[in-house]
Amino acid sequence: MRKVIATVLLCLLALVAPIPTIGATNTTTPQEHYTTLARWAGCRAEVITSDEHSIVESFYNGKLYIGTMPDGVPAELAEMVALHEIGHCLQDQAGVLDDYAWNPQVYELDADRRAADLACARHKDGAKLLHDLFVWAYETYGYSGDYAHGTMAERISQSMNAPACHPAPLQAPLLNG
Ligand SMILES: [Zn+2]
Repeated sequence: MRKVIATVLLCLLALVAPIPTIGATNTTTPQEHYTTLARWAGCRAEVITSDEHSIVESFYNGKLYIGTMPDGVPAELAEMVALHEIGHCLQDQAGVLDDYAWNPQVYELDADRRAADLACARHKDGAKLLHDLFVWAYETYGYSGDYAHGTMAERISQSMNAPACHPAPLQAPLLNG
C-alpha cells in the first residue's frame, strides 16, 4: 500500500500537479482547524498546511497536505476539498487503496461521495456544496472533469450515494410507553 501511496498523490483535480514536498506550516490556526476536521471525520493522518499553496493543491499521500493560501476561495468550498482528501485518508485507513493505480476513478468518485457525506453529517447541504465546488472549479480553472476523477456529472452526482445526505425513514417505532 505504501508503494502505491508514495507514487500516487491523491488530489482533488488533475489540472494542478501536487507539490511533492510542501513547505513547513506557516500558520497555526488553519492547521488546527483542519486537524480538528480530520479527527472529527476519523482520519488519524498528520495534517500539514501551507499558505503558500492553493486549496486545489491539497493532497493526501499518507499525510494530509492542505493549501491555505488566502486566494478568495469560499471557506465552505475549501472545506469540501479538505473533506475529499480526508476521504482518501479514510480509504487508506480502511485498507482499500491497494488497487488505486489500476482504477483511480473508483477511489476519486468515492472520495467525492465521502466529502458530500461528511458535509451532510456536519449538517450542511453536502449535495449543493459538492455541486458548487465543481462549478467553482469550472469557473475558476476551466476544470470540467478528467479521466482519473470522472466527468463533472459523475462527480457532482456522488452526493446521491451519500447516506448522511439522504437520511432513512425512522425504522423503529417510537417508545411511547
Ligand atoms: Zn482525490
